[in-house]
Amino acid sequence: MAKVLLENIKRRFNNVTAVEDITFEIPDGEFWVLVGPSGCGKSTILRTIAGLEMATSGNLFIGDRLVNDIPARARDVAMVFQNYALYPHKTVAQNIAFGLEMRKVDRKKIQERVLTVARSLSLEHLLDRKPKQLSGGQQQRVALGRAIAREPQLFLLDEPLSNLDAQLRDDTRAELKQLHQQLGITTIYVTHDQVEAMTLADKIVVLNRGRIQQIGDPQSIYALPANEMVASFLGNPPMNILPAIYKGDNFDISGQLLAIPENIKAGLNLHPEQICNLGIRPEHISIGNINEPQRRRERREENLEGLFVEVKVVEPLGRETLIRVSLPGSSGFINVQVGGGVRLHPGENLHLHLDLN
Ligand code: ADP
Repeated sequence: MAKVLLENIKRRFNNVTAVEDITFEIPDGEFWVLVGPSGCGKSTILRTIAGLEMATSGNLFIGDRLVNDIPARARDVAMVFQNYALYPHKTVAQNIAFGLEMRKVDRKKIQERVLTVARSLSLEHLLDRKPKQLSGGQQQRVALGRAIAREPQLFLLDEPLSNLDAQLRDDTRAELKQLHQQLGITTIYVTHDQVEAMTLADKIVVLNRGRIQQIGDPQSIYALPANEMVASFLGNPPMNILPAIYKGDNFDISGQLLAIPENIKAGLNLHPEQICNLGIRPEHISIGNINEPQRRRERREENLEGLFVEVKVVEPLGRETLIRVSLPGSSGFINVQVGGGVRLHPGENLHLHLDLN
């Protein structure tokens, strides 16, 4: 096990700067996830740590050792790819044993180790099979097993679940988390999937266009995204980003006024009439039906305190319902998450309010 330190890592490919100024330190034993859209530089960072790419500049430490010039095989890291890369003619046991045989570990020790690893991944009944006789999920577990068997000080995973179907991906994700809890090996995991990032990570590193946007634990990043890219990337359904004018007590959104709840007023660092992009999570909107009792409706209209919108699409998700609504004259959707019991139909008019509770 080891801590990992990246200092100002930069990697250029001819004229393309793949990553720039990448600096972070992963404490020993933590599980970090590098997340961002395709092409943002995640794999380049991981491959640089593995020693499969050389940084153009910057320093990389694994443990206390500066490894800039240390070749991949001498870094004591194990990497798992999305395509498993198992040896097709070897059995599961031989695949798991491979890294140990390369290191000339004693035969008896190898057998014991293979069995222990197979048990921890529920593979012991499959040890004599060849990869093609296994499901995708089982093959991925063998790939993990081969990496674990070597007892590396660092575990690097590049989109390891992306070839699995949805149910298996969910299950394997949980197994991976459990495995990390048991083994405690420092792990760096690359994904473009924000759900994997949120569920697996001790810390998330959000990347865009080769640069770090934010580093933090999942809940803090979700609650306090550093910028619009992070805000709209993490969260499903994504955060609504609405152009607005700050009016002190309200935001003016396309000529309608949305009241600002007291509990967030004090934290806003805006000046009157400032133009801004307002980010609102779908679960932070409450709805009132425009056909609700006359008295309440009139009071709301007098106070001009909510957004009038029209329901466009209703998507029941079981426990919740996602409704996509639009402001008059606008074709863009605002996503609103409400309880699964709420019955709404396209064409209905609603009143939206901010509800941060
Ligand atoms: P991600 O893993 O986030 O999808 P990558 O690290 O694979 O992103 O790529 C980051 C950027 O570097 C992209 O613009 C990609 O085209 C470029 N890149 C990656 N590898 C090479 C290479 N071997 N040659 C040229 N450009 C590359």
